[in-house]
Amino acid sequence: MPKLIQLLLISLAFIMASVSHYAVSATTDLQRADELFDLLDSGVVEKNLEKKQYLEELTPLVPKNDLARQLRLARTICWSYNMQDDAEIAQALLFAKQALTRPELTNFPDDKLDLELCYAWFSEQKGDVDTALSYYNRLVIDAYKLENLRLMADVRMMRGYLTSFQGNYTQGLEDLMTAQTLYKSLNVTVWVQHSLYEIATIYRRLGDQENAIRYFNQLHKSHIDNQEFDKANVVISSIAIAEEERKSFTQAKKLFLESYHYWNTNQNGFKKAGVAVNMAGTLIKLGEINQALKYLDESVPFITPSAEGFYNYMQLFYAQIYLELGQFEQAHKSIALARAAFERVKSLRGLVQVQLVESQIFLMQDNWQAAYESLYKYMELHMELDKKLFSRYNTEMRTRFNAEQIEAENRHLVENHKLKELELAMLEQNKVQQWIIIFMGSIILIIISTFTYKQSQKNKLLSALALTDDLTQLPNRRYIYTQAQDYFESAIKNQQALSCISFDADYFKLINDRYGHEVGDETLKLLADTCRAVLGTQYEAARVGGEEFLILLPHTDKAQALKVAQHLVNQVRNADFSPFPEGFSITISAGVSSLSETDDKLSQLLKRADEALYLAKKQGRDQVKMN
Ligand code: GH3
Ligand code: MG
Ligand code: MG
Repeated sequence: MPKLIQLLLISLAFIMASVSHYAVSATTDLQRADELFDLLDSGVVEKNLEKKQYLEELTPLVPKNDLARQLRLARTICWSYNMQDDAEIAQALLFAKQALTRPELTNFPDDKLDLELCYAWFSEQKGDVDTALSYYNRLVIDAYKLENLRLMADVRMMRGYLTSFQGNYTQGLEDLMTAQTLYKSLNVTVWVQHSLYEIATIYRRLGDQENAIRYFNQLHKSHIDNQEFDKANVVISSIAIAEEERKSFTQAKKLFLESYHYWNTNQNGFKKAGVAVNMAGTLIKLGEINQALKYLDESVPFITPSAEGFYNYMQLFYAQIYLELGQFEQAHKSIALARAAFERVKSLRGLVQVQLVESQIFLMQDNWQAAYESLYKYMELHMELDKKLFSRYNTEMRTRFNAEQIEAENRHLVENHKLKELELAMLEQNKVQQWIIIFMGSIILIIISTFTYKQSQKNKLLSALALTDDLTQLPNRRYIYTQAQDYFESAIKNQQALSCISFDADYFKLINDRYGHEVGDETLKLLADTCRAVLGTQYEAARVGGEEFLILLPHTDKAQALKVAQHLVNQVRNADFSPFPEGFSITISAGVSSLSETDDKLSQLLKRADEALYLAKKQGRDQVKMN
């Protein structure tokens, strides 16, 4: 072979080898890049330092001319800034703003939306909640237009987080429940956990501490199962707060201490300080003022004004301590700082407490006029909060929501009813919001059906989840109330009969206490099965609360409904308890009501059923009453 050809062949082989090597390494680079993107998207990586390390690895792997991945990189960078650091918040805002000027974004609306969301989120972290909220409101609609389930979930999660923090629980819950459903369908466990946490928090703020603690315990268990001990410990703090709110101060202190020691051992100064602030609140209530002061002083270096949820309460607690110690000037200073901080995040709940403490300080200073004014402001704010909480300016609703009053009159109605009422109120009183929800709901359904058609089984789950109770597989409250509203309107229009049965398990707490929650859950399934067997396809039943159920009986008068209810009560009493522990039994009490001529709202009908149920309970349980 001539030398020249030989040379040529050798160099050709060499070129081919290096080209193929280049090709292989390029694809593995891209594979690795996508892997890292997915990892960062999943929310599993939470520590900022770790995020940054992954980003350092990721950035050089993304080719400059690969526009789609470059934009994804921009999103990922934006979300990697540390929201607990003022400087980084500013950097994130700058980064997002600059990234949003890229003209290519018009062809990549999903990336654009995510960057805007990032901008909104960091605006909120900066304390600019108005900007954040107006962004969220717009982005929700955009996300639905894009049919991007993940973005829909993200925006609603963030808006729910903000609105519930502001005291708008109806909106918050609606957002978070939707987000949770979407995340579940997308299998994004971390975010399912986040939304679970938020939902528990709302229960807590609604005053349903028992349910809140139950959700938190579930979450705690899930974190322990996943060996996520830091997160499990955050949940411990939340349980402590809920315990404090139900006035179990000693238990709260115990849990706070557990959490405090955990962060101490793990050398997390900021987290430890956060717990210390919360614990100071409990200690004040226990009268351990000096201890409280010690913990607060210790947290000062960590809790800067940007640590929103802590700084404001830290100042409030200082004010309370100075009040106790008779240092009124100091107390006023702290009050001013607390008020400014609560105002910045528009926390009505915080401001209400600020007013109360301020009036107490004035009172101790014998400044009656100022004390009165401050107290007056307190009541005003409180009423505003009430209005927000229970929405809808309806005295009847508000009276029912007045926890103390209900507690005295009617213990068992308190549980779960707050939520039930909120949904009812939404259905009945706020047509605009109702319309928006129905609109959003239908958009979701349209999207779901499109996706179901286009894609896999996965999304079938989605629509079912939104309307079905997980445990019992019965329809949930959301579904049955909408249904009830339809029946109600058509019964009135066509002058037909309509009845409903509200029933609740008897002494269910005892079952949980005696046999554990799992048996409790099995009991609920048994009740659901019995219901299905008794009602067949004729009537619909739903689980509307923990162990409370509602049955709708269209075209059915009171006498017939009474028969159905009595039959159900008998069937439960005589059910087959053999799969249950030795000695186990369960009964239910039921209340029946029927449409009367004076009814003009669905809630009147439901309320009568509840009242009848209460009567059945009062007169010994395991029976039916009507109203
Ligand atoms: P009463 O006869 O007056 O209804 O007594 P009760 O003990 O049933 O009282 P109440 O209705 O107030 O108690 C409801 C209990 O149900 C409180 C809560 O711990 C429990 N619970 C609520 N939801 C669930 C659930 O999903 N699973 C289990 N296992 N327990 C639940
Ligand atoms: Mg009960
Ligand atoms: Mg109950």
